Amino acid sequence: LGQAGKLPLQVLIAAPRGFCAGVDRAIEIVERAIERYGAPVYVRHEIVHNRYVVDGLKAKGAVFVDELDQVPDGVPVVFSAHGVPKAVPAEAEDRGLDYLDATCPLVSKVHRQAERQIAAGRHIVFIGHRGHPEVVGTIGQVPEGGMTLVETVEDVEALEFAPDAQLAFLTQTTLSVDDTAKVVAALRARFPGIVGPKAEDICYATSNRQAAVKQIAPASDLVLVIGAPNSSNSVRLVEVAERCGTEAKLIQRAADIDPAWLEGVGTVGLTAGASAPEELVREVIAKLGEWRAVEERTLVTAEEKMTFKLPRQLVD
Ligand code: SF4
Repeated sequence: LGQAGKLPLQVLIAAPRGFCAGVDRAIEIVERAIERYGAPVYVRHEIVHNRYVVDGLKAKGAVFVDELDQVPDGVPVVFSAHGVPKAVPAEAEDRGLDYLDATCPLVSKVHRQAERQIAAGRHIVFIGHRGHPEVVGTIGQVPEGGMTLVETVEDVEALEFAPDAQLAFLTQTTLSVDDTAKVVAALRARFPGIVGPKAEDICYATSNRQAAVKQIAPASDLVLVIGAPNSSNSVRLVEVAERCGTEAKLIQRAADIDPAWLEGVGTVGLTAGASAPEELVREVIAKLGEWRAVEERTLVTAEEKMTFKLPRQLVD
């Protein structure tokens, strides 16, 4: 009845969106660990940055803690998809804890590159967001002082290395593709000898989701991005949509949508960060359907077939 006289709402859904292979794997590690070892299984840090996922795992018997000293002796602990500094598994080993590492293999790849560059005698300039757990984990792969964090082109301008310093750069996996290209260009301009990864460290899921938003945003009056405020790749999706000139909102659940946002809106673009499950996409569409007649359409810009193996301990 409430829909009478209202124009239908076009919902343009980005694909790919939502869960990536690293998030899928991390969640499966926690679920399988609970099956194998029984509850509780401790998880250091949010396994992935999504409250719905975390609450679902809590209900199955996972206990989330910030630090290892909150894990009792004799209980298995899982490290989150974002990766951990080397000191964390070392401490777990000292304490004789069984641990499972859910670090995404694409983050681990950056960790190994960091070790290799340090072994080759280079100082690393790491492009990332200060304080993000992935950044803390990657910086913690090398001896203290081996890595300098930069976030912006201005940070690059402020670096005090000699132009011929032995430098390498690496990046966080969930950055803005466009911003990172600018920071890398600034680095190469100031330090022509700087060594970089062959293919960039921004992961396939991050770049595919950003490319997909670039396709839906120009055709939308408003873009909704499902994701958490501490989810780097989700926040980047909001920025990408805004740079296309379209208003964009980050929402965690359907309940966050203010119906006033839809006034005068004919098409809503919809996507989800790599840690947001598809259930939440359906929840949002159902919510929109309470206010307007929804006509949904999916725009596919890439197919993803990536999967990652589980840790040995969990494979029969
Ligand atoms: Fe791995 Fe990329 Fe997913 Fe992060 S966003 S877990 S790096 S695939």
